[in-house]
Amino acid sequence: MSVLVVGSIALDTVKTPVEEHSDLLGGSASYAALAASFFSPVKLVGIVGSDFPESEFDFWKTRKIDRGGVQRVNGKTFRWSGEYSWDLNTRETRSVALNVFEHFKPNLPESYRKTDFVLLANIAPSLQSHVLDQMERPRFVAADTMDLWIETTRKDLDALLPRIDLLILNDGESREITKETSLIKAGRQIRKMGPRYVAIKKGEHGALLFGEDEFFSCGAYPLEDIHDPTGAGDTFAGGIAGYLAGTVSTVHFTDLRKAMIYGSVLASFAVEAFSLERLRMLSLEEINQRYEMFKLMSQFEVST
Ligand code: AMP
Repeated sequence: MSVLVVGSIALDTVKTPVEEHSDLLGGSASYAALAASFFSPVKLVGIVGSDFPESEFDFWKTRKIDRGGVQRVNGKTFRWSGEYSWDLNTRETRSVALNVFEHFKPNLPESYRKTDFVLLANIAPSLQSHVLDQMERPRFVAADTMDLWIETTRKDLDALLPRIDLLILNDGESREITKETSLIKAGRQIRKMGPRYVAIKKGEHGALLFGEDEFFSCGAYPLEDIHDPTGAGDTFAGGIAGYLAGTVSTVHFTDLRKAMIYGSVLASFAVEAFSLERLRMLSLEEINQRYEMFKLMSQFEVST
């Protein structure tokens, strides 16, 4: 089955303590779509300007990423710039230029409306809801969000939550949305706001997954060299959604546990280079090798 991915498509400028690069391909949908495409065909929804590189469309074609839902309009592509602190854990947004994104209204092609799996990658919750309004009963809907929407469009976010199956957010965001310091309490409380499952990302410390009476905790893949953490969260979400779409028809908690590991594996590759460069060169074999390593590292009872 395929997965519909909607989100931002951007040109990013990223500064780390050692390097700075501008006009890199970025955006929540770019990362999520490429991550998902390792497991299932992707139907991409977004908007770009006339300055967006044509070569990217050709690349998507080679990866079963259907760009039929990507509007190309006159004007400049959405631009975002961020700067990381020395430990690469905290980031400050330096500038945002919405450009063509300002008037983005995602209208789905007819052929997209019956897609079974949906990933509402990070964009305004009102736009995420607008996409769902056009879908014909998808089997599974995952959504990502960010602090900006919790702070500025809380009502829209609250309206979206009962319509989705899985909410993916980071530790800080889950504390912000619930005003709880404990992530366990936060995860349980967010479930009561609507989503059947909640995944809380903890950066280099892994992620937590909450179901009705179920709980799962996984670590992050131990990396020595991180070059650019941008898009790790989007890649994690894309890996989860793509894995589910490509492997199961009805999602159970056990599937989500595996999907979380695949999402973590994909994210660990994404941060090894700037932009999507590492993901572009990645093979399914490398993904599976790291998945197996994850399994070995997480075992605590080993028969001798
Ligand atoms: P992450 O590192 O997973 O939080 O995602 C970073 C990506 O999100 C960058 O490539 C940005 O282009 C994109 N981004 C930043 N701000 C926004 C926003 N307000 N809406 C949608 N996408 C954004």
